[in-house]
Amino acid sequence: MIAVQHFGSISGGKDSQAVLCRMVERIERKGLAAFGNRAPRFLSADNGHENPITLDHIAYLDDWLGQRLGLRIETVSANDVPGLTDAAAFARKRAMLREEWSKEKRRTRHKGACNRHRDAWRAGAITKGEWLAACECPVMVSPPVPDHLIERALELLHPTGIPFLDMAMLHGRFPSTKVRFCTSDTKLIPLMHRKRLLLDAGVSVIDWIGERADESPARARKKPIQSVRYPSGARNILYRPIFRWSAADAFAISARHGLRHNPLYTMGMSRVGCSTCIMVRKRELRQWAMRFPAEVDRVREWERLVGIVSRRTAALGTPASLLAAATVPGDPDDHGRATIDRAIDWSRTSRGGRNYDLFLAQEQRDADEDGLLCDSEYGLCE
Ligand code: SF4
Repeated sequence: MIAVQHFGSISGGKDSQAVLCRMVERIERKGLAAFGNRAPRFLSADNGHENPITLDHIAYLDDWLGQRLGLRIETVSANDVPGLTDAAAFARKRAMLREEWSKEKRRTRHKGACNRHRDAWRAGAITKGEWLAACECPVMVSPPVPDHLIERALELLHPTGIPFLDMAMLHGRFPSTKVRFCTSDTKLIPLMHRKRLLLDAGVSVIDWIGERADESPARARKKPIQSVRYPSGARNILYRPIFRWSAADAFAISARHGLRHNPLYTMGMSRVGCSTCIMVRKRELRQWAMRFPAEVDRVREWERLVGIVSRRTAALGTPASLLAAATVPGDPDDHGRATIDRAIDWSRTSRGGRNYDLFLAQEQRDADEDGLLCDSEYGLCE
């Protein structure tokens, strides 16, 4: 028999919860034979930036799974992966920072037609020399960073044990929509680390993933089943068992098992992972800020810390910005990014971010006076 290990990834959201229910149903119907006679394993990645309500919800699912089948949800972290957020990674970063910050930095900001020439070079239509000869884009020059700022950054560059913050400090910036190292470094790599030993030993891995086609055009382009072969001959199969389901289907299977949903869904959040996600929607940002002031304080402090180890903000004496440029209209002089306080102010405006809307002001007053209203994107409160 081919050795195979099934894994379920648990995020605390409705879709991974639906997959958990499907896997439990399958075991109860067919026994472990349906999983190659090995109990499936359930993994959840904690990157230290999760909403506390989501962590509580995962603990609740873990209890349910334990009582129902005697299985547990394992927590993985970037801290488990050698070289990712450990002392060695920070030592490398300190050495690099001392070397680079003490020198002038020149960077060309390619724009407009020049970007098209670069695409033509990448496509092999012109040579690199032809592209650069036509380039008249501005060159940004950053002078060497003063010694006291270098020393301040070096003092801070030690592991905090919080993977999301440590990754941001190691990268010298927060993730962005284009460079989403939050997903790769604090979620995917730690999850894969748990599976890698099996794959290298020739055990195939089947990942049950809670992705649905109707979530986004990008998701819809994925395949319900994908497979990658490893040098050991083992396969890593990505299986999306609820690919054709609607959000209502995902909620329904949990209801059938008497499982409650992550309470964040009844607080106006459509996503329940990081607190808050770098791609948070305007309305959700407003809700998050109203409901979780302690989380806002934490993010503000992280922006201050990352600002000290980012070359540009260290020199300017400003904090870094958690939220990606594509998420909020930021400051054109700050790479289009906005700090959390500025982004929250913007989230309370309407009409292109210029005016405070009377309704929004009233919503804030109601929240302050009467507690917060139930407000679900999925109609759970109706
Ligand atoms: S939820 Fe958002 S911030 Fe968190 S890892 Fe995913 S993309 Fe990054």
